[in-house]
Amino acid sequence: MVKAYIGLGSNLENPKLQIINAIKAIKEIENTVMSSISSLYYSRPMGPQDQPDYMNAVAELTTSLSPLTLLDELQKIENQAGRVRKDNRWGPRILDLDILLFDNHVIDSERLTVPHYGLKDREFVLLPLHEIAPRLCLPDGESIEKLSQNIPANGLKIHSQLS
Ligand code: ATP
Ligand code: MG
Ligand code: MG
Repeated sequence: MVKAYIGLGSNLENPKLQIINAIKAIKEIENTVMSSISSLYYSRPMGPQDQPDYMNAVAELTTSLSPLTLLDELQKIENQAGRVRKDNRWGPRILDLDILLFDNHVIDSERLTVPHYGLKDREFVLLPLHEIAPRLCLPDGESIEKLSQNIPANGLKIHSQLS
């Protein structure tokens, strides 16, 4: 069993409910336990600003699945939530489930880049991750503590507890 960290995000169709439903669905993934969940956060959109604010959270999973099988399961949950993939990058979405970290693995394949390429630059990922795993280090040795201290909060706020 290894630990994996998942970033959850939504800014359409009742984002809070989307995150709550996604947590329920993730808890049902086989051979996987949700060992921790952050608070629910409000965040400002990245990229195009003419879209609603986001709700974000980070979950810690303990899993014996392979990284690609976990990605398949997460994409199934995105699709079940009604996500339609559009060409506009960083546009509004019902549900986004990204693998942030998978144990200490470094993966660079067609379908999967781990650690997630945006991890170090996104306050809505680093700060919830720091909440649940303050002593975590990335495969390159950088600490979440340091990265989260150095990132501007950009309006990120805790909305409510999820656990
Ligand atoms: P961003 O990647 O900037 O957060 P996004 O999450 O909106 O943008 P998606 O449309 O959800 O991007 O995903 C596009 C593709 O990214 C997926 O089909 C998936 O194969 C690939 N991908 C690569 N690395 C990861 C990862 N670590 N987690 C999830 N998807 C990934
Ligand atoms: Mg994403
Ligand atoms: Mg994604």
